[in-house]
Amino acid sequence: VISLQNIIKKFGDLTVLDDMSLDVYEHEVVVLCGPSGGGKSTLLRTINGLEKINGGKIYYRGTEVSSKNIKQIRKHIGMVFQQFNLFDNLTVKNNLLIAPVKTQKKNKEKMLEKAMEYLEIFGIADKLDAYPHQLSGGQKQRVAIVRSLMMEPDLMLFDEPTSALDPEMIKEVLDAMRRLSSMGMTMVIVTHEMGFAREVASRVCFLEGAKIRVNKDTKSFFEHTEDDRLQQFLSVIL
Ligand code: ATP
Ligand code: MG
Repeated sequence: VISLQNIIKKFGDLTVLDDMSLDVYEHEVVVLCGPSGGGKSTLLRTINGLEKINGGKIYYRGTEVSSKNIKQIRKHIGMVFQQFNLFDNLTVKNNLLIAPVKTQKKNKEKMLEKAMEYLEIFGIADKLDAYPHQLSGGQKQRVAIVRSLMMEPDLMLFDEPTSALDPEMIKEVLDAMRRLSSMGMTMVIVTHEMGFAREVASRVCFLEGAKIRVNKDTKSFFEHTEDDRLQQFLSVIL
């Protein structure tokens, strides 16, 4: 779906992505982990064309991403952040419909049907008319995921979607992502939920010091942790 080839990204003198390459295939769930400052968020933003790169190439389904086509390509890529960024003054329903109906002029009934479908899958169909302040953090994040899905992305990016949540709500959001995965969604997820990674990811990457130090299928990733930096990271996090 997406191919990053030898990406270099600098902020001034600081190299944040140093010759990074990553391929994400259809229906894969790729988990990115690693210490703070390792470049995980920057890598996600790069995939989405939100960061100007200093070197390398990005391909989306075989087409090189450029300033000319990035707007078009970004429509196929959904992104979910740590903060949910819902509109506080709109109900769940209107949060979900505003972009597709108001901006994209899509059919309101059809979009509402789609919204209900996802809300039901994620167990929050009863919240359609609620305002964000009436929702728990886990419910807000699931609404944020549905909002992203309304655009019918074929790639979903998640940047620490559960790290702002209380422990009891983390599971609800991880379950929602698990459902998405079983529906065949291609996903790249920055998370430190290693239990989830082990269970759901097809591949796990360990980023440190602007490099992807380890990129392995999930089974090998957890079986062969001989990389000393990875060992150190896992010993802190597990
Ligand atoms: P965390 O786990 O804390 O979220 P991360 O792996 O997501 O970390 P990034 O946010 O990608 O790391 O940041 C990588 C490096 O780039 C850090 O050293 C950070 O300070 C730097 N950086 C990120 N964004 C900018 C920016 N807009 N301007 C300057 N430096 C930046
Ligand atoms: Mg980050």
